[in-house]
Amino acid sequence: MTARILDGRSLADKMRAGLRVARASLGDRPVRLVSLEVGRSDEAQIYLRGQRRAAEDVRIELVEEHLSDDAALTTVVGRITQLNDDPSVAGILVQRPLPTHIEARDVQGAISRHKDVEGMNPSNMGAILYHEPALAPCTASAALRLIHASGIDLAGAEAVIVGHSEIVGKPIAMFLLHHLSTVTVCHVATRKLAEHTRRADVLVVAVGKAGLVTGAMVKPGAVVIDIGINRSPAGKVVGDVDQDSVGAVAGWLTPVPGGVGPVTVAMLMRNTLRAAGLDVAP
Ligand code: NAP
Repeated sequence: MTARILDGRSLADKMRAGLRVARASLGDRPVRLVSLEVGRSDEAQIYLRGQRRAAEDVRIELVEEHLSDDAALTTVVGRITQLNDDPSVAGILVQRPLPTHIEARDVQGAISRHKDVEGMNPSNMGAILYHEPALAPCTASAALRLIHASGIDLAGAEAVIVGHSEIVGKPIAMFLLHHLSTVTVCHVATRKLAEHTRRADVLVVAVGKAGLVTGAMVKPGAVVIDIGINRSPAGKVVGDVDQDSVGAVAGWLTPVPGGVGPVTVAMLMRNTLRAAGLDVAP
């Protein structure tokens, strides 16, 4: 491995230290984040574990609510409307995956944009076209923060994003455009993926396919951000990037686990404090 590691755990620790200081300015006033889970999934339990720990560390009260997996969209939206109207609630977080009869965007659109700590409400998403909004999508913000941590000058850099989902790929592309990178977005219909990825000074991979990107597809010295979360046949959590071969070529690389994940959770806490009215960096 020649690439330097972009250590998400230590970056998240530093971010939470800053958040604790900001949180202290509110004294004993509670900051409440409501997590709404529809049905039960192992995946959501894994996310919740990290969120609980981070919330406790920053003194955010994480309230976990559950609705049954056959809850109708109207029931879910009804509960969100009550939470929108409840002044004791700073932020609302809807755990994924949702049952198949519920569209994530219908739920996200129901959350008040002022409590939308995942930054997924159409109004917050739309604001990304103008600038990085106060409540920006957490994973995209985390990827940008890790890219900055490498020290790369983004102006004029070739940035390639693999994956164009609303939650990850598209917002990252816009953030990098704001920083004057030349941005290419690749997806399932992209021909000759490697020809694009090999040009990238900054390569962000957000697909959900283990081993999609190998060392032969990476420019020497590139900053590589691996967002994917997959299970290997042996049950290990792995990203979309083959860490061994890419680590031998890239200049900087995020590990999986321990890269984008912990910073995403720290961004969620940052957004919650912002929703509670604090002006917190970054
Ligand atoms: P998603 O909605 O399934 O999007 C995947 C994207 O990859 C789509 O844009 C898809 O294109 C594209 N794609 C599929 N196959 C491809 C291929 N062979 N070559 C190039 N592009 C391809 O997933 P997501 O929500 O963006 O998440 C992506 C990954 O990141 C998942 O593994 C997820 O678990 C992980 N994730 C991690 C975090 C974190 O905190 N670390 C947070 C969120 C997500 P089409 O739409 O054209 O098919």
